[in-house]
Amino acid sequence: MENLISTFPDWRAPPTHRAERDKTETVVNLASAVFNSTQEAIVVTDNKGIIVAVNPAFSIITGYSASEIIGKNMRALQSGRQHRAFYREMWERVGKSGYWQGEIWNRRKNGEVYPALLTISSVRNTSGTPTHYIGNSADLSRIRKSELKLDHVAHHDELTGLPNRRLLNVRLERILARAIRDDTEGAVIFVDLDRFKLVNDSLGHGAGDELLTLATWRIKNNLRTSDFLARFGGDEFTVLLERTTRDGAAKVASNLIEQLSEPFFLSSGEEISIGASIGICLFPKDGTSPEQLLQHADAALYQAKAAGKSTCKFYSSDLTTLANTRLSLENQLRRAINRQEFVVHYQPLVSLQDRRVFGFEALIRWQDPDRGMIAPSDFLPVAEETGLIVPIGQWVLEQACAQMKSWLDAGYQLDALAVNISARQFNRPDFATSVAKALQQTGLEPCCLELEITEGTLMANDAASLATLEALKALGVRLAVDDFGTGYSSLAYLKKLPVDKLKIDRSFVTDIGSDPASAAIVSAIIGLARCLGLSVLAEGIQTEQQRETLLASGCAEGQGFLFARPVSPAAVPSLEDAMLHLVRAAP
Ligand code: C2E
Ligand code: MG
Ligand code: MG
Repeated sequence: MENLISTFPDWRAPPTHRAERDKTETVVNLASAVFNSTQEAIVVTDNKGIIVAVNPAFSIITGYSASEIIGKNMRALQSGRQHRAFYREMWERVGKSGYWQGEIWNRRKNGEVYPALLTISSVRNTSGTPTHYIGNSADLSRIRKSELKLDHVAHHDELTGLPNRRLLNVRLERILARAIRDDTEGAVIFVDLDRFKLVNDSLGHGAGDELLTLATWRIKNNLRTSDFLARFGGDEFTVLLERTTRDGAAKVASNLIEQLSEPFFLSSGEEISIGASIGICLFPKDGTSPEQLLQHADAALYQAKAAGKSTCKFYSSDLTTLANTRLSLENQLRRAINRQEFVVHYQPLVSLQDRRVFGFEALIRWQDPDRGMIAPSDFLPVAEETGLIVPIGQWVLEQACAQMKSWLDAGYQLDALAVNISARQFNRPDFATSVAKALQQTGLEPCCLELEITEGTLMANDAASLATLEALKALGVRLAVDDFGTGYSSLAYLKKLPVDKLKIDRSFVTDIGSDPASAAIVSAIIGLARCLGLSVLAEGIQTEQQRETLLASGCAEGQGFLFARPVSPAAVPSLEDAMLHLVRAAP
């Protein structure tokens, strides 16, 4: 530092007064402290660019000690990455304004080139001639590295490491522009895992994450390295194919569907079969912007899902009409709520031994003035997606409780009113309260009400759902697991849940006579229910033979077209004509 100070005659101008001399000394000491302790490299040169002083940070950053570099020209630090004109301009600026700042590539002693933010200021003597230059530079390489990392994080999905939606957009824009320019064709493929939600809900998020990672690998292994794969979100993946045809894209899709339908083995030992649905759109034929293409591929995917699992569909302009229909379905549903177009039908729950009706399952229908009676499967998915199921479900609950109360008041001997509850309803924190409200309003005894919750909803292994179940139990209502056998129930978990009944899914009952596997599943469920002390009911009984087989296997209760279809409340008294026993106390 002494050496530097001595080169600045201005700083050392002989002080005239003692006070001023003291002040100058303080300034010099401060400057010295800053010079020695700052994190930025400082280099001082004479007016020819010969280095006369460097600070410790300079030595740390560049690797040159002071004695090695002092006396050398500044050019020793140049990386060679910038053109002569760059330096010429830089010095011109310094000459004119006494100052320059910018990013520059420097070279360390070990040869490594690094980015630096450099500031050059000139030091002039009293006549205004530059005597020295001070270069002050910050090493940007660490910042650059963290910028790069940040960039990676911003553009990639944490779980799978795949590019995310943001990067997909950038890439698609580039690929699309190239296809238009080169007059080639490409494809956007949307892959959606079937039944993923079920696994996530029933086995937990850890298993869901593992499955997604495994699926990612499987998709990757079935693509060329030049294909672009991104995670669009949730269980949706997007593949971009360049220079392909409709046939080429179809081949890739069918290969993916085949590969994804093979079972996955989780580290817990669980074997999971999922499958995938695929929507494809071609560019530039089906769209000329990334948003349009993604929207169209999504519409095709929606169509594929609607057509059944493990299907692939190409986009066609008709699909836009379909998406519009979906949107209008949502609007119509809202209107239907306001106009009270929903009705509840009731399907008898019967004792398989003697055909006695002991209860009813409430099933919603939509009585549309133009289209007639609409089945729940045609509108519940949209109601569920939009959250409209919550007010609709509450309405069904209140309606059904009131109906049951009036049957009981009329003397019918019934002990169960079953009402279906959707996941969206069940997961609301105020669900138990809304059930209590329906019971209170209608005056129905809680023990008559049986809430049907699907396996997937129930197995979402979290504290909140267990608390809801406990609250419902405390109310005194009963709980049934609907469509049992279609999910991935963990038996250990099932044992802990306060449920009362398992409803064997219709698909097993239908095949009970023809498929030994279904017959085995049915008897396993019945055995399981007995072990856990639960009652069991078989859904979808359509033949006398099914009824007998079930009865022989130990299942005492059932419902199905063999006994009765769901009917309007007005038709309930006439069920007695259909060989059912409706027990009614003498008035
Ligand atoms: P679910 O709860 O499993 O109801 C049984 C379904 O099977 C009913 O269909 C019923 O009509 C049908 N079914 C009964 N016996 C037979 C049979 O022997 N053969 C055949 N092929 N089908 C039979 P539905 O009424 O179309 O309802 C379908 C599903 O919609 C229900 O399945 C339930 O999951 C849902 N759902 C119906 N009403 C409501 C509701 O108010 N709220 C909620 N969240 N879901 C509802
Ligand atoms: Mg049900
Ligand atoms: Mg069911």
